[in-house]
Amino acid sequence: MHIINVAAEMAPLIKVGGLSDVTCGLSRELSKNNTVEVILPKYRNIHEDYLKDLKIISKDVITLENKKKYKNTIWQANYDKIRITLIDPEHELNYFGRDNVYGYKDDLYRFLYFSRTVFEYLTKHHDSFDILHIHDWHTAILSVLFHEYNQKKPNVVLTIHNLQYQGRCHERHLNSIGLDGKKYLDNGSMQDNKYKHSLNLLKGGIVYSDAITTVSPSYAKEILHKKNGENLDITLIQNKNKLHGILNGIDQNIWNPETDKFLKVNYSSKDSLEKILKAKKENKKHLRSKLDLEDKHAPVISNIGRLVPQKGPSLIRHAILRTIEKNSQFVLLGSSPNKMTERRFNNLREKLHSNKDIHMYFGHSEELAHLLYAASDFIIVPSFFEPCGLTQIIAMRYGTIPIVRRTGGLADTISDIDNPILQTKASDGYDLTPNGYTFDAFSQKGINNALDRAIKAWFDDPQKIHHIKKTIMNIDYSWKKSAEKYVELYKGLIRQD
Ligand code: ADP
Repeated sequence: MHIINVAAEMAPLIKVGGLSDVTCGLSRELSKNNTVEVILPKYRNIHEDYLKDLKIISKDVITLENKKKYKNTIWQANYDKIRITLIDPEHELNYFGRDNVYGYKDDLYRFLYFSRTVFEYLTKHHDSFDILHIHDWHTAILSVLFHEYNQKKPNVVLTIHNLQYQGRCHERHLNSIGLDGKKYLDNGSMQDNKYKHSLNLLKGGIVYSDAITTVSPSYAKEILHKKNGENLDITLIQNKNKLHGILNGIDQNIWNPETDKFLKVNYSSKDSLEKILKAKKENKKHLRSKLDLEDKHAPVISNIGRLVPQKGPSLIRHAILRTIEKNSQFVLLGSSPNKMTERRFNNLREKLHSNKDIHMYFGHSEELAHLLYAASDFIIVPSFFEPCGLTQIIAMRYGTIPIVRRTGGLADTISDIDNPILQTKASDGYDLTPNGYTFDAFSQKGINNALDRAIKAWFDDPQKIHHIKKTIMNIDYSWKKSAEKYVELYKGLIRQD
């Protein structure tokens, strides 16, 4: 099969969040038995050092934007067995030559332009292929473009990584890439379900793709209800027959404590418990000296993520205070696009300035993330909703125990070690051996229940904690099973042709 993934991010080339991990991990697994190509914008900050044989394959791809012609250079390279295609526009607004991936006023225009260029490339400069796999709102319009122009449409699969980001826009945005915005302002088409004068790119993807997936079985169910449906629940219910929940895996090449170059001491799930604990202890010591934390007999609890409302920043702040109260330590590695949220964390940091039991780092740091996964005892993820969540899965591979709120993919991957009521039944062949601490209520009381139990066990019952650490390192969260589910889905679509 020839599969093309089109996305805004792919680790380790360009990374903001989990989308990048999925593009990479899924593509790598699929590339073992299929031809896989990933198309990305050629961002200025892309890590070209990971690419082999980078070369220009065309300078003739033309995009019409607002009736003006733009030339694009198409680059190609290899990353392992994956073919990487990079779109490099000659555009006066320098769409991808900026510091960040997202966060610009013209993001809608930037990704519409990218998608239109991908369409031109695929239809005029590319051999035939079997599956076009698009991701999130950034590339959702590709399903509409193929619907609009192409009699012989490829099989299009849309993955929704997070329903909250939808690409709400206006007729003029669609007009800019040559579509008739007015035509799509219709309830059965791309009209936004809440703001009736607006269009919605993700809704377009849902309506015009042949299959829709989201990144965990629980989230696939949750988004059919008003509470988590982000106003697209009605559209999703109408398209329920093509909606699938497939749990994300993790890329075991990138997330591997045996080879991870950011660790002080490497270790493996195959090592003896004694060796694992010793290595984790060394990494913890290294972390403490790096971050100026006190070296003492106490667990380290960490949180790694984007500090957006979805991730429960108020509960994270509460967890920091609660952890200190319990004579334990907390490290936060958070990136915040929201100034207000950052200010709140900064206020807390100033208040706790001289406290040697906490460290907060704002920004993106691959190095610190890897070290934290290895050096921490626990990782805490108190999300309000969570499509899949990767930090709890990565943490387990490093023998770090998750403390999570039971929602979406967190509920599908973590089952409570103490309390049968908080245990989730394994579904779809996924393993759910009790493997962490969970809570239901999105409240301080809720999080206390899980956090307190974890800390108490660390101090009072080290054998239990050691046993969990070893067990979770051996749970299989590779992409193998999930990639097989995607292949089944692709094959089903091809059979219907
Ligand atoms: P989301 O996709 O909502 O951001 P996920 O849990 O699915 O959340 O994925 C988060 C990914 O991004 C993980 O690989 C995590 O290690 C990484 N990550 C998040 N924040 C940071 C940060 N500040 N620095 C480094 N890596 C981060």
